[in-house]
Amino acid sequence: MQTPRTPGVPTPRPASSHPDTPAAPSPPQAVALAGESVAGEEDPGASIDVPGTPMAPGDQAPPGTPGTGEGVCPRCGGTGRIGETDCPDCAGTGKVIEGIGGG
Ligand SMILES: [Zn+2]
Repeated sequence: MQTPRTPGVPTPRPASSHPDTPAAPSPPQAVALAGESVAGEEDPGASIDVPGTPMAPGDQAPPGTPGTGEGVCPRCGGTGRIGETDCPDCAGTGKVIEGIGGG
């Protein structure tokens, strides 16, 4: 038997069998980072009388006070450390604000 073959080109099927859903780009979400820490978080080691004034307990005057200057903390000798803890006088900075030339 002879099988009649059709020499024709195969009919290409249309690729529109199922509509391709366009890949919608996800909208950029604005990530709001909370930069503020939780209120009420206190440092138990910090004992500052006046909030906002960066003074170490060993400071004799606030920074910028005329007649005063930054000096080596006499308690820790400028190391900022007393034993294994921070020097309480200079708050671990090793420097305190003290009067200059005063008596
Ligand atoms: Zn000190």
